Amino acid sequence: CGIFGYLNFLVERDRRFIIDTLIQGMARQEYRGYDSAGLAVDGDTDDETYIIKQAGKVAALKQLNFKQKIDFNKTFISHCGIAHTRWATHGQPSQINCHPHRSDPKNEFVLVHNGIITNFKEIKTLLLKKNYVFESDTDTECVAKLTKYIYDTHTGPPMTFTSLIKAVIKELEGSFSFLFRSSHFPNEIVATRRGSPLLIGVRTAHKLKVDFVDVEFGADKDFLAAKEPSDFLASVGQSVSPTLNRTQSRAFLTEDGLPQPIEFFIASDAAAIIEHTKRVLYLEDNDIAHISEGNLHIHRLRRDEGATSIRSIQTLE
Ligand code: GLU
Repeated sequence: CGIFGYLNFLVERDRRFIIDTLIQGMARQEYRGYDSAGLAVDGDTDDETYIIKQAGKVAALKQLNFKQKIDFNKTFISHCGIAHTRWATHGQPSQINCHPHRSDPKNEFVLVHNGIITNFKEIKTLLLKKNYVFESDTDTECVAKLTKYIYDTHTGPPMTFTSLIKAVIKELEGSFSFLFRSSHFPNEIVATRRGSPLLIGVRTAHKLKVDFVDVEFGADKDFLAAKEPSDFLASVGQSVSPTLNRTQSRAFLTEDGLPQPIEFFIASDAAAIIEHTKRVLYLEDNDIAHISEGNLHIHRLRRDEGATSIRSIQTLE
């Protein structure tokens, strides 16, 4: 399948633009899967999420006379949207099996998935015992439910979005790339992969001065972070501790030290990104990328033997 995510930070966009960008991202990847299409965007109140999906082609989704009364003119200065074109492996192509999938009727956690979770039956059995109600026949849905289960049963200091998803993918077998969004972490995204492709494009009016991203392995430093900040990424070291304090999170800064307007495009295939930006970074297996308030951090699931220590920011031809 094809997955696509779009985040704007300090760039004002209306809902029409955001949905059109997501639909265009899906259309560019439709060769990867075309039995269903769907997307998730913010609703009108802070903890509301609209999920719009149906079996059939992307073009049909575009023409869908949205059931919800959607205000397309509502603007967002910061927003995270995710989208998916499906190629069914578990569960027939149908409305209920389309992605995005959700943790619960309030859409607390919503995700799109490319790949196959081979141990989904075990996870589903466990969650059924915990009274989770499943809506679809997919392998994917159990991951949305598992995310809520881990979040709700966690004790101790509150989890960051990264630590949560790290705990989730630790439980998974098979292949995946995922985009997660959550009403608990508004305007943030976690993108992760194992065996399925995923890349992140960055668009900003400012010149990117960082050409590579350094890996730092360690007990609580299992992240990749841009070094030598320049104007691209400032003081990332502050905000990557496991007990990340959201107020410490710093934006990409301009020369004047001001937060920088920036947009991120995440996709399975560069074909969906190149029309927006040529500056991209490819994720590797077990990378967990977190974007929040204009910052991109790449964490590692664990200290892997032979994991490369550099993610270069490449220029697409
Ligand atoms: N296994 C998932 C499903 O059947 C994802 C398939 C895909 O990559 O499109 O829904």
